[in-house]
Amino acid sequence: MSNGGNVRENDTLKPMDSKQLREYGHRMLDYLKDLLPDAAPEQPENFQHVLDDITKKIIPGLTHWQSPNFFGYYPGNSSIAGFLGEMICSGLNVIGLSWITSPASTELEVIVLDWLAKLLNLPDQFLSTGHGGGIIQGTASEAILVVLLAARDKILERIGRNSMDKLVVYSSDQVHSSLKKACQIAGIYNDNFRIIKTDASSGYGIDPLNLDQAVHVDIEAGLIPFFLCATVGTTSSASVDPLVKIGKITEENAMWFHVDAAYAGSACICPEYRHYLDGLEYVDSFCMNPHKWLLINFDCSTLWVKERSALVNSFGTNPDYLKNKMSQQKNVVDFNDWQIPLGRRFRSLKLWMVLRLYGADKLRGYIRNHINLAKQFEQLVRSDSRFEIVCPTLFSLVCFRFLPYNNDNDDDGYELNSQLLDAINSTGQLFFTHTIISDKYILRFAVGAVLTEERHIREAWKVIQNQATIISNNHILSKINLK
Ligand SMILES: *Cc1c(COP(=O)(O)O)cnc(C)c1O
Repeated sequence: MSNGGNVRENDTLKPMDSKQLREYGHRMLDYLKDLLPDAAPEQPENFQHVLDDITKKIIPGLTHWQSPNFFGYYPGNSSIAGFLGEMICSGLNVIGLSWITSPASTELEVIVLDWLAKLLNLPDQFLSTGHGGGIIQGTASEAILVVLLAARDKILERIGRNSMDKLVVYSSDQVHSSLKKACQIAGIYNDNFRIIKTDASSGYGIDPLNLDQAVHVDIEAGLIPFFLCATVGTTSSASVDPLVKIGKITEENAMWFHVDAAYAGSACICPEYRHYLDGLEYVDSFCMNPHKWLLINFDCSTLWVKERSALVNSFGTNPDYLKNKMSQQKNVVDFNDWQIPLGRRFRSLKLWMVLRLYGADKLRGYIRNHINLAKQFEQLVRSDSRFEIVCPTLFSLVCFRFLPYNNDNDDDGYELNSQLLDAINSTGQLFFTHTIISDKYILRFAVGAVLTEERHIREAWKVIQNQATIISNNHILSKINLK
């Protein structure tokens, strides 16, 4: 090793050594507190000591999201271009809270959000040239909170502040938990949060008839439907709500229509997936997360709105100490009026660098490769009759489960699949996660890490099969012992 001999072989960083992860990971959870001092040092410390601590005490306590064997949740991509953009952002450290505080920061954000809108073929209403436009928020959760508050204020402006208790929010039971959080912050409680049940018959998308019915029941009860969140690529199963049919209902009832495409939005830069966004003409706000699956290092969630004035009405403050000619003349965008915090990082740099250094064509290829790998994984699952595919694989998420061979627990394989997932993840050879849909325990295999190749898919499947075999054999053995 050419490290000048400072680090012994044993101390070398091995971020993917699964034995080390298992051994240290568990100990770390319990003992991290004991490993580190309980107060910051009074005097500066030696850099090498800090680095050694990162290697020995921090890295073993991490989940390796960039590993090619990471198939959990949804991906959190990192890339060289994204990293370089982060470096410049961090090095310059400009705080672009209003236009005048760093004009290029705001201008670049406006330009790249228009670029990305065009790659997604978003309707013109979302471009900066009309009444709408795009902004980078930290996360999809912040985006949904911002638009919910704007929608709430807009309707209360019209009907009066004392009608707050009448406002009703709608979504399917597959919506991301961030909507619930946003409702809690916005003062819309469970009584006024309608969760439309979905099932396999509509592919876990909202059935527009059920939605229409719920809206009418509320109107008859004197309530005011004002906000609907639909999802393209739900977190559990990547299901898709039918935007056109929902859009007709929100339009008829003058409701704010938000679309959350945090994960699957990235796939829609490919023309063959763009149809999942058909109906965006009806939509007031649209969000996707390039920090999930479009090679932008966290954080970068892009939000487009049809009426930027709705955000400014809710979030504009205009204090004396920020007043300036450019803002007063209303010639410029002050992004702090579109978000909750005042300060903001120069995040558009990394989006700009990824789009420029990779180009749209390569990005489409990148997405298609992951979707192909997911289809290959799906084929492997289908070729083993002990398993079943639970939901259609629309993008790069495969939902499957181990079939209950003898349902002693009477739980439709819940315990079995939960055991299997634990056993597989405990091998340290791959990592993935689960969900519950219609009371079923479902294994979610989400392809999308930058380094994942076909061989990782095949190896992962072997591990899954082996662990399934071990669990079945143990089960049979325990039956024989009982007799
Ligand atoms: C991941 C995800 C979110 C949350 O994203 P954050 O940026 O972490 O807030 C919201 N909605 C969907 C559909 C998601 O998949």
